[in-house]
Amino acid sequence: MNIILLGPPGAGKGTQAQRLVERHGMRQLSTGDMLRAAVKAGTPVGLRAKAVMERGELVSDEIVSALIGEELDSMGADTGAIFDGYPRTEAQAASLDGILSARGRTLDHVIELDVNEDALVERITGRFTCANCGKGYHDKFEQPRIPGTCDKCGSTEFKRRPDDNEETVRTRMAEYRAKTAPILPIYEARGIVSRVNGMAELDHVTAAIEKVLEG
Ligand code: ADP
Ligand code: ADP
Ligand code: ZN
Repeated sequence: MNIILLGPPGAGKGTQAQRLVERHGMRQLSTGDMLRAAVKAGTPVGLRAKAVMERGELVSDEIVSALIGEELDSMGADTGAIFDGYPRTEAQAASLDGILSARGRTLDHVIELDVNEDALVERITGRFTCANCGKGYHDKFEQPRIPGTCDKCGSTEFKRRPDDNEETVRTRMAEYRAKTAPILPIYEARGIVSRVNGMAELDHVTAAIEKVLEG
């Protein structure tokens, strides 16, 4: 199974992708995570991407599509892929078609997380992750069960993203509206889009996604 989780920054793509990984043994392919790893490692890709990401603009299509191809090649052929934060432009959507067909994969579902933009700033400014295992949390909506300790791995180190501030979020939302939302019709024409209410409680969103995958 190969699926895309689509939605603006803070819609819940990463959170829901992590849950699908745990339940179904699929792989999460997050171009945001790949780019942050490249920035941290100081690779040539990271050096090119750093300032663009800090501004909340989009990194070049060539860079992110190359990262996706490499990641797919590192996976078993029967491991399902969850694309999180990719594709984000029409050019990336076209690249993904080629990347998948070259590997004998087909796209099964595009799940659109439908959210109210007014809620996104609060979601993003309250977001943090475990510095050890990457599990996502929120100051108000998803606290660790034991305060200060990761539910999944027990680490007590957490981190926040430098681009998770209100000003950058506005740019990221504008980028989503201008460049990413227009790819939906491509997938609608193929009849593979399902819309899920991303404003519901976390567990309800997960249940709605499971229903799509079963159907
Ligand atoms: P994305 O990957 O789409 O940018 P995340 O999955 O990182 O979004 O979610 C952004 C923040 O909002 C996280 O801190 C997460 O815990 C929280 N969040 C995600 N989904 C919900 C939800 N349905 N209700 C409340 N908070 C949520
Ligand atoms: P969010 O989860 O909040 O939507 P991401 O972690 O997916 O954010 O992305 C963070 C930043 O990384 C983006 O603002 C952008 O600069 C860059 N980025 C991630 N994925 C892509 C992509 N597919 N195309 C271009 N830029 C990307
Ligand atoms: Zn952890």
